[in-house]
Amino acid sequence: MQERRKKRGPIIDFLLLGLIVALTTIILVIILSKDEFKFQKISASKETDTESVNSNISTESSAFPGIRIVTDVSNDKRTPFAIHYPQTDNEVFNDAVLQYITDSKENYLASMKKDKEVMGELNISLETFPYREHYYSFVLTKMLYVGGANHEVTTKTFFINNETGEQITIQTLLQNDENNLSTLAANVRKDLQKNLQIKDELLKDELLKATEPKWSNFTRFAIADDSLQFYFDEYEIASGSAGAPIVKLPLSLINPLLASDFQIAMENVKPITPPPTGDPNKKRIALTFDDGPHPKVTEQILNILDKYHAKATFFMLGSRVQYYPDIARDVLARGHEIGNHSWNHPVLTKLTQEQVMKEYNTTASEIEKAINHGATVFRPPYGATNDTIDAEIPVPVVLWTIDTLDWKHRNAQQLLPNVKNNLHNNAIVLMHDIHQSTADGLDAVLAYLQGQGYEFVTVSEILPYRQK
Ligand code: ZN
Repeated sequence: MQERRKKRGPIIDFLLLGLIVALTTIILVIILSKDEFKFQKISASKETDTESVNSNISTESSAFPGIRIVTDVSNDKRTPFAIHYPQTDNEVFNDAVLQYITDSKENYLASMKKDKEVMGELNISLETFPYREHYYSFVLTKMLYVGGANHEVTTKTFFINNETGEQITIQTLLQNDENNLSTLAANVRKDLQKNLQIKDELLKDELLKATEPKWSNFTRFAIADDSLQFYFDEYEIASGSAGAPIVKLPLSLINPLLASDFQIAMENVKPITPPPTGDPNKKRIALTFDDGPHPKVTEQILNILDKYHAKATFFMLGSRVQYYPDIARDVLARGHEIGNHSWNHPVLTKLTQEQVMKEYNTTASEIEKAINHGATVFRPPYGATNDTIDAEIPVPVVLWTIDTLDWKHRNAQQLLPNVKNNLHNNAIVLMHDIHQSTADGLDAVLAYLQGQGYEFVTVSEILPYRQK
C-alpha cells in the first residue's frame, strides 16, 4: 500500500500545487488591480477639488481659542509648496486671508508653468501673536523661489479682534490721527537708520519713500513681545544680504499714539518725543512755574496767561497737590502742562535711589488722582540730578535755560530784566508760583515777549526743538 501511494503521490501533489499557484495568482491580481483602481479614484477627486493642483489640505485647531491652522502641502514634486494660514469663525477675515493665499499660489503655479525646466518652491509660514484677551496678529512670511534668479521674502500681516471679528488696521491702532502717523513714521525711519545690521545695505531713497508718513506704508504690522513690529520686504529698503528687516518699537515708547484698547499701563512709560512739526524759524518760549499749586498766586498767574493766550508748564509738589487738587485741575483745564516736582522738595542726589523713586511715585499718583491724567515731565528740586535719576525717572527730566531768580529777589520789577538779559529762542524760563512778586511781575514779561514775537508753549512742545 505504501509503495502504491508513493508512486501516485508526486503526480497528484504536482497538480494540486499547480492549482494553488494559479488560484493565488488570480486572487493577487484581483486584489492589486482593485487597490490601484481605488488609488486612482482618490487622486482624481483631489485634483478636481483644488483645480488642477494636487495638494493635501488639513485644518487643525490651535492652542488659541477660536483659531484654526490650515496646512496646504503640494503633492506635485515639480511644483512643491507648503502653506500655513489661520482660520477663525469670521468669514470676512477668512476670505481676506484665503484671497492672499490663492493669489500667491496661482502666481507661483503660473510662473512654474511658463518654464517646465525651472526649479521652484513656495513656502508660506505663519506666526501667531496673541495680545490681551482677544487680539491676534498673524504674520505670514512668504518665501518664493522660481528658478535661479527669482528668490524673494515678503510679509503679509493680519490683525483681528477675534471677539468682534473686526480686522484692526494701522489707522485704528493710531486713532486715525495723522500726527500720530507722522510721529510713528519718524520713529520707524530712525530705527532703520540706526540698525547696524543693515546699515551698509540701506537703500537711502527707498528707505525715505517707504517710511513717508502714509498709511499705506505701515500696513504690515503686529503686536508681539511688548512691541509694535513693522515688516519690510527683502530688497524693499536694503539690498539682499540684509534680508527682510523688522522694526520693533516698544509699546512703552509709542504708548500715547495708540488707541486706548492697545495702550499699556502708564507706570514707567517714557513718552515719545514727537518730531518738530512747526516752523523751525518761529520764536518760542516755555514758561515754567515750580513749587505750587498756591491758592492765590497760581490763580492770578493763570488769569495773566489767559490774557495773552499763553500756555505754560507747572511743576507741582505732591504734598501741595494733596491740598489743592482743584487748582491742579484748573491748570490742566486751561490748557497748561503739569509736571512732577517731587513730594516735598528734597535734594534728590542726597537720597537713596529708593527714596528718589518714592518722591517721584507718590507725587505721580497724587497728580494722577487729582487731574485724572499723569504728569508728563519731571523737574528735580534745585535742578539736582544725576545719570541714575535721569535713567530711572520714566518721563523726561527737564531743567531750565533762564533762571529769573524770583525766589531770591522777590521783586516784581526785577522779573522782566532777568528774562531779557538771558533771552534766547526755545528757552525754558524758571519761575515759582508761590511768590506774589512773580505773579505781579508776570504781565510785563508776557507783554514784552509777545511784542518780540514769541509764542508761549509748554515744555513738552519745546523739547523737540532743543534736541539736535
Ligand atoms: Zn522747586
